[in-house]
Amino acid sequence: MYMDTIVTVEVVGPPGERVFRSRTAAAFSWFAEVERRCSRFDPDSEVMRLCSKWGEPVLVSDLVYRCIEFALAVADATEGAFDPTLGGIMEAKGFNVNYLTGEKISSNSATRRKPCYRDVVLDPVARTITLVAPLTLDLGAVAKGFAIDLAVRELAPFRNYVINAGGDIWAAGSNERGEPWHIGIRDSRHSESVASMLLVSDAAVCTSGGYERPRDDGENGHHIIESITTQSPTGSLSATVIGPSAMVADALSTAAFVLGPDKGIAFLSAQHVEGIITGPSLRHHCTPGFARWEFR
Ligand code: AMP
Ligand code: MG
Repeated sequence: MYMDTIVTVEVVGPPGERVFRSRTAAAFSWFAEVERRCSRFDPDSEVMRLCSKWGEPVLVSDLVYRCIEFALAVADATEGAFDPTLGGIMEAKGFNVNYLTGEKISSNSATRRKPCYRDVVLDPVARTITLVAPLTLDLGAVAKGFAIDLAVRELAPFRNYVINAGGDIWAAGSNERGEPWHIGIRDSRHSESVASMLLVSDAAVCTSGGYERPRDDGENGHHIIESITTQSPTGSLSATVIGPSAMVADALSTAAFVLGPDKGIAFLSAQHVEGIITGPSLRHHCTPGFARWEFR
């Protein structure tokens, strides 16, 4: 269990048990490493130490730099609908418990105005990051995908495998029958049924669903929020993206969810990925090329 989700690796074919053990151990260690560096729930994580030093340039690891750089690019592309500086707001909404220790965190990033992704300034030469306002970074929409991509590199000796991190998937090569992997997209309302079946090879499939983590303080809403209203969007029940890397699919599924069916589908098309957004009446909105991936 990493990042509050179960991570599995399934491999088909050679080179055998011993390599399988060592490579999957290396793959899993990336989930631990990304979590250790990026967690919002650990005051000692690299990201939270960066947040505690706002106002000054902070030298960060390549891993943290790349994660934040990508999250900011998605924020820019969505004009801030996707915004990795919403950590303080997530915390205030009750998403403030470390799932491993049960401890409540309090990052003290209270500020007179709502922070925004433009408050995070990168220096690509010095590899430093400066937070120009007090804020708490939340990399929850990109970190898992990034960890999957790092794990994929460790599994290079295998051609055919699937990494599944709580429904966010990288499917390499083919299944035991030599066909593309069959990846089911869960029905937004009935978790036992499958809304659509995809045939996937060498691509990531990531889903953002409002059903995943409801607020546990009794208020309406869930773990994805729209940055301007700071409320959970009501236009989407779920969004799934097929992408060339898991970090891309992970972040863009969250972005598409926040944007809602109309803007979300236009956004995914502009980003050259395929995806499907389920609206509140269970209507499916798809990018033009999505059907090519569907098993019918
Ligand atoms: P995912 O499950 O990949 O859709 O990511 C959901 C996570 O993304 C949440 O748990 C938050 O950590 C984070 N998040 C929520 N709302 C936003 C948003 N508007 N922009 C960026 N990240 C968000
Ligand atoms: Mg996501």
